[in-house]
Amino acid sequence: MILTNELQQLHTDMRHWRQHLHQFPETAFEEIQTAKFIADKLISFGLDVHQGLGKTGVIATLSAGSSDQKIALRADMDALFIQEQNNFSYKSHHEGKMHACGHDGHSAMLLGAASYLSKNRHFNGTVYFIFQPAEEGRAGAKQMIDDGLFEKFPADCVFGMHNFPDIPPGHFAVKAGAMMASFDCFEITITGQATHAAMPHLGNDAIVVAAQLINALQTIVSRTINPADPAVVSITQIHAGNTWNAIPESVLLRGTFRCFSNTVKTRIADKITQLVKGICAGFEVSADVRFNPENAGYPVTFNTEAETAIALKAAIAIAGEDCVDKQPIPSMGSEDFAFMLQKKPGCYIWIGNGSSENSCLLHNPHYDFNDEILSVGAAYWVKLVELKLV
Ligand SMILES: [Zn+2]
Ligand SMILES: [Zn+2]
Repeated sequence: MILTNELQQLHTDMRHWRQHLHQFPETAFEEIQTAKFIADKLISFGLDVHQGLGKTGVIATLSAGSSDQKIALRADMDALFIQEQNNFSYKSHHEGKMHACGHDGHSAMLLGAASYLSKNRHFNGTVYFIFQPAEEGRAGAKQMIDDGLFEKFPADCVFGMHNFPDIPPGHFAVKAGAMMASFDCFEITITGQATHAAMPHLGNDAIVVAAQLINALQTIVSRTINPADPAVVSITQIHAGNTWNAIPESVLLRGTFRCFSNTVKTRIADKITQLVKGICAGFEVSADVRFNPENAGYPVTFNTEAETAIALKAAIAIAGEDCVDKQPIPSMGSEDFAFMLQKKPGCYIWIGNGSSENSCLLHNPHYDFNDEILSVGAAYWVKLVELKLV
């Protein structure tokens, strides 16, 4: 691993920033103190700072040389609604909220890179440091784009990084093409006729229909989608009834589906609608299907070739050839950085967080970002800028 002395010295600062952010987690579009902390640091480094895009987003601009090339680097700032079960000194002070996805670490690494680059301007062009809100299910990236992110900060390309448990600490994994799946939600309401549990023939049991439908939905992936195209359909909520001896009028089902192409995505959505209509018609109950009723779905996180080549070069320069996985298996998880990649060429890379022993898994109440990788992540950002803006 090749790190400059200065980046190693920054490690202590980054660890403080990371652990501070960890203690005061804020969730989607409420990252007020987080954004202020980040903006104050960026201002202290002498960068131009813009606040309020996407409600709580922060963007800092740093230029050097005469080139008009522009690169954007993005970190996410939001926490999750999870009650932390760690007991270390910097555990969450906010009841029911926790940095369980490592966005505290992502912000600290990008701050570290901004600090370093402000003092060592060995690049030719402009860097935009994007700190975005609401990555967790609320599409903060899309909100920033809708608010004019790329009109105000017209980057040529955009780069993102996420930690990944069970990749060795400080190793990288990246490839061109799909890295993470699309994410869509659906909500199905089946309405039958309520009746006494002893007299089902007098009503129309929506629960029995829901059972048929849940099984049928499981055939979408196994019997409709090409087995060579990864996809997953999961029912995640069933709501019906409130007593022992009455058949309720309706059932509410909720779920999600994920895949790696728009063709598959459309096929799954169409098939869900068809199965709901067909099965419910057969049982003479009415049905309603809604897609993404609360939030926008997330597109596929798709890395472009040229930008991935640069990202790979930067990762290898920092971690060494043997510590970069060039053919990682894409994740069925999803990422709202995908919205930025729909607008600009770019690349999303994973940095290893180390072993997931002791439940150190993303979105687990025992998770913690691995501070040992802070300087490696910051060094990757620095190298990327130096390689891209020549
Ligand atoms: Zn997450
Ligand atoms: Zn995350």
